[in-house]
Amino acid sequence: MSNPYSLEGKTVLVTGASSGIGRGIAVECSRMGAKVIIIGRNEQRLQETYDNLSGEGHAIIQADLAKQEEIERIVTELPEINGCVHSAGILKISSVKFINRELLEDILNINAVAPILLTSLLVKTKKLQKRSSIVFISSISGVCVANIGEAPYSATKGAISGFVKSAALELAAQGTRVNSINPGLVPTRILELSNTVFSKEQLEETMYGRYPLKRLGTPEDIAYGAVYLLSDASSWITGINLIIDGGYTLV
Ligand code: NAP
Repeated sequence: MSNPYSLEGKTVLVTGASSGIGRGIAVECSRMGAKVIIIGRNEQRLQETYDNLSGEGHAIIQADLAKQEEIERIVTELPEINGCVHSAGILKISSVKFINRELLEDILNINAVAPILLTSLLVKTKKLQKRSSIVFISSISGVCVANIGEAPYSATKGAISGFVKSAALELAAQGTRVNSINPGLVPTRILELSNTVFSKEQLEETMYGRYPLKRLGTPEDIAYGAVYLLSDASSWITGINLIIDGGYTLV
């Protein structure tokens, strides 16, 4: 009997695969049988992900998603794919009164503009096969909850939620499904790279007790959700926000 959760025979593109959640997704997709194409800027970290992939036929495309010509190059270099996970993202902290154009454009560009334009090109060029699955890694922040200092980040994730619903409706005609995953806190490099005044350790300590399941998330927690949304097991699911947050949004 075939396993509906298997990704055997599927080719899946994963952005942000050089680190954190994207790396976890790439690794789990390969373990479930997919050929994986991984995208990021950092060559060494991409290679580390690549070295952890199971099976054969995977590929690396090193690219900066902040640049339109790089998005176009990715699509040109791609084979036909059956799934795409948009995990590349950045976090910038700013109180509302200190938001400036540069900060807002930077975060919108990576978290919202790039994945939307990449999706559009994948559809336009038919690189995305019929009955494909597109997964956006959004957040609970801006969609379900709010944190002080995260207004610009929340704006990018809210934009993705809106896009997911309309795109899901439109692309349903070709059997393509569009969903998002909304994770709670997963300690990754994003926390170290952001301009938050808290250290990663302080954040983990503060947040830990607010998670009913008594732990923070791991990249694998999110990856298992992505595998489900990419697989035929979720073939009647489109347009949803899949919250994976250890119960955080319950309280
Ligand atoms: P991470 O470990 O910092 O990974 C971010 C990834 O994005 C890296 O692979 C990075 O690759 C890539 N990236 C950033 N800018 C890029 C650019 N200009 N071009 C190409 N790739 C770029 O962070 P993470 O925690 O895994 O975050 C992944 C996603 O999950 C993000 O969308 C984030 O908003 C979302 N999320 C995270 C959490 C959490 O608590 N960690 C919670 C909710 C949602 P390079 O450095 O190689 O370019």
